Amino acid sequence: MMKNKMKFIFVTGGVVSSLGKGISAASIGRLLKRRGLNIFSMKLDPYLNIDPGTMSPYQHGEVFVTKDGAETDLDLGHYERIINTSLTKESSVTSGKVYTTVLDKERKGEFLGATIQIIPHITNEIKRRLYDGFNAKGDTDVCIVEIGGTVGDIESLPFFEAIRQLRRELGYENTFFMHNTLVPYLKTSGEIKTKPTQHSVKELTALGIQPDAILLRTEVDIDKSSKKKVALFCNVNDEAVISVKDVDIIYEVALNLQKQHLDDLIVDHLKLNCKSYADMSDWQALIKKIKNIKKEVTVALVGKYVKLHDAYLSVMESLKYAGYVYDTKVNIKWVDSEKLESEDPKEVFKDVKGIIVPGGFGTRGTEGKKMAIKYARENNIPFLGLCLGMQLSLIEIAQDVLGLKDANSTEFNPDTTNKIIDYLPDQYKGIKLGGTMRLGEYECKILPNTKAHDLYKQDLIKERHRHRYEFNNEFKSLFEKNGVIFSGVNPQTNLCELIELKNHPFFVACQYHPEFQSRPLLPHPLFVGFIGATINNK
Ligand code: GLN
Repeated sequence: MMKNKMKFIFVTGGVVSSLGKGISAASIGRLLKRRGLNIFSMKLDPYLNIDPGTMSPYQHGEVFVTKDGAETDLDLGHYERIINTSLTKESSVTSGKVYTTVLDKERKGEFLGATIQIIPHITNEIKRRLYDGFNAKGDTDVCIVEIGGTVGDIESLPFFEAIRQLRRELGYENTFFMHNTLVPYLKTSGEIKTKPTQHSVKELTALGIQPDAILLRTEVDIDKSSKKKVALFCNVNDEAVISVKDVDIIYEVALNLQKQHLDDLIVDHLKLNCKSYADMSDWQALIKKIKNIKKEVTVALVGKYVKLHDAYLSVMESLKYAGYVYDTKVNIKWVDSEKLESEDPKEVFKDVKGIIVPGGFGTRGTEGKKMAIKYARENNIPFLGLCLGMQLSLIEIAQDVLGLKDANSTEFNPDTTNKIIDYLPDQYKGIKLGGTMRLGEYECKILPNTKAHDLYKQDLIKERHRHRYEFNNEFKSLFEKNGVIFSGVNPQTNLCELIELKNHPFFVACQYHPEFQSRPLLPHPLFVGFIGATINNK
């Protein structure tokens, strides 16, 4: 097969935010991947933070972590899960990163006396990052780039200008512009309205970008004549007006786009050498399976940000995927850890079959999380602890079982005499640190004859991390004497990665974030084990 040239698909949005353009973009990625192409994807975010790592989950939802340790927008999680790929730090570009690079260069005198301006300096830096993204993996055929926000926002203008210039540089047949809009349905008159779409495309063309396809997000079916009208007013071919009707299961979006031949349109436009058809039979089978699910199980998710479910997006998805293995729908009971502190856990957890304590930062709500852990431990309720969930499990056991009443993490009590979880600089010898946190993928050796080994069926695994504090190995033997098995350790540093309890049906907690590696058709073993245990918990 002839090697394809550098090709980009740019995904923009108009009319309203939260259109799900990330899902459409990822679905196109899935279709193209199934046609034998290597896909890379990128998200350009117009905000000025360097990355979402420091933003409140209430502002931004979950922070998704890539294999190489970039803290990114949660949309990258959708890309990884839907396309079934792993992305890199090049995938995430923010205005903050772009401006910092340009201003650092300016201070170093690299612009040789020039006046630094948005065009060309900022736009050049954006284009450089787009090319870097395309080249990041070395085998990319098509790079799908989503521009965050809505056309017309002041913040995103340099990004639109950069992609306009990119078409000039790469040519029409190497760039494809896909614009997503909302087509509202007016119940009273029973009609759909295309005017906002027309205005949004007008805005886009004013920036010099003529879309090649328009994706209309709608609640109802869009008739042929409305599609024709959009095509005429927005200056695109009839077949390039695609409806993206609301679906129950997000994987259906890819199938709907395929039905309307959006992948064919893109393949023709970009002149891609690839298979003539995307075989999506396993996805069709998965959707059919999901639609026929009759059983259900409810687990409690105990966290601080439960009001915004997006804060736990990858965990939610991972629970769902594990449920599919057992033809079971997993319902989540959201438990606010702070409120739990003044409630009776017996009452709160009476209708759940499992408890999960995900990651988190800061003291607020930790007492409630420990109450949940204690309840799961003492009542044989299947338990999965993730990151902070593992740290608090060890603290709870230290306080309750080992009798170390003031045991704590130095994150919550720097003066404690029993620093169970600590920032131990000498433990970091020899391992590379990203920022101040341990970020990205690290190895974990799994101890034989453990639950973890039964689930992973491997001796050495790799998982993604995002945390600052570690278990203090000085306490290890004391825990071991009291029924804690350290079933996974980092082979290079001996840091604790995974624990489980001896006399408990399923009490597993890990320092890493397994939720970032779970995929619809490849659910993560720890989640599969956990959901299996909840189903057995009669
Ligand atoms: N706050 C803890 C730490 O920094 C746990 C972090 C997390 O759960 N992601 O180590």
